[in-house]
Amino acid sequence: MTTDGSTNGDDAPTVVLVTGGSGLVGQAIKEYVEEEGNTKDGETWIFLSSKEGDLRDRKATEAIFEKYQPTHVIHLAAKVGGLFANMSAKVEFFRENILINDNVMECCRIYKVKKLVSFLSTCIFPDKTTYPIDETMLHNGPPHPSNEGYAYAKRLIDTMNRAYAEEYNCNFTSIIPTNIYGKYDNFSIQNGHVIPGLIHKCYLAKQENKPFVIWGSGTPLRQFVFSRDLAELTVWVMREYHEPTPITLSVDEEEEVSIKDVALAVAKAMKFEGPVEFDTSKADGQFKKTAGNKKLRSYQPDYQFTSIEDGIQQSVDWFVENYDTCRK
Ligand code: NAP
Ligand code: GDP
Repeated sequence: MTTDGSTNGDDAPTVVLVTGGSGLVGQAIKEYVEEEGNTKDGETWIFLSSKEGDLRDRKATEAIFEKYQPTHVIHLAAKVGGLFANMSAKVEFFRENILINDNVMECCRIYKVKKLVSFLSTCIFPDKTTYPIDETMLHNGPPHPSNEGYAYAKRLIDTMNRAYAEEYNCNFTSIIPTNIYGKYDNFSIQNGHVIPGLIHKCYLAKQENKPFVIWGSGTPLRQFVFSRDLAELTVWVMREYHEPTPITLSVDEEEEVSIKDVALAVAKAMKFEGPVEFDTSKADGQFKKTAGNKKLRSYQPDYQFTSIEDGIQQSVDWFVENYDTCRK
């Protein structure tokens, strides 16, 4: 292991613990590292689910670190939800994420983890801002009120990364992804994010011969990253990105799309030909949160992201094939 915490170097074993390993991003990382050639010699990967221990609980978290003795941690575990889940449970989004993050970070310090990579989100950026937003602007004003519980809990990861470095010389960093979608997503209509929610609603509309209803006006803009791309880039961050400051993992600004266009792409992938309607009594949330990816492009100028059409088709096919067992 090298002193910067990357996994290339000497022959010492590397144990990568992925918290939240059973979720959308965790399963994508698992599939990625299980593909031939994507695991390095001497690397062992552990993918945790909440069944193995509740990370809100300090003793359960310590037991997991004691058992696996990780050298590296990719911290994904969180209370996660779409706009409507966030609006309805700000207290729980704040408290659960604060507890999980405090336990994981403190155990990384105690167990001398060489590198911790935690997940933030572009939805925690300031609401009133100039665009594109970059990593230096994270704390420059309040987040959108719809998800302020989640946003403040997540922002504190960045604050504590700096504090742990200053006081204990810890090598903690973070990733800021845009909206994520793909296989193993949470397809709950009430609680999930927009793409899995739309996929589920479109599936039911087709089955039941009913209109496909998009919530809100359809005009808000979002950047979406396919979970397989994010998995590949996250493994690269763990091995090769050596800055303590966050890095935004986002498609280019030109790839930003409206919710309406995303919904029409879902309808096309589902081969849904019935009526499409907008329920404007539902919230739009933040109009946009356009993120710049200059830092990522300075390291990975040629990285090719999966197109939204291709990613949505793969997600729709996976949802239809796994309808009986997937999270919904
Ligand atoms: P997800 O699919 O909802 O998975 C969440 C994971 O966290 C699951 O493995 C879950 O375990 C685990 N978890 C939740 N509460 C836990 C607890 N108390 N103890 C232990 N484990 C717990 O989430 P995701 O979409 O993969 O998100 C991964 C990370 O990316 C999160 O930090 C999220 O904030 C961030 N992010 C997500 C998005 C997005 O669009 N999805 C966008 C930006 C950032 P079980 O399933 O086993 O219960
Ligand atoms: P956000 O990106 O953090 O705001 O969270 P979401 O992934 O939940 O996206 C919310 C945006 O999609 C808002 O503009 C919603 O009005 C719109 N939207 C349209 N239909 C749906 C749906 O079925 N579920 C969700 N979660 N959002 C929807």
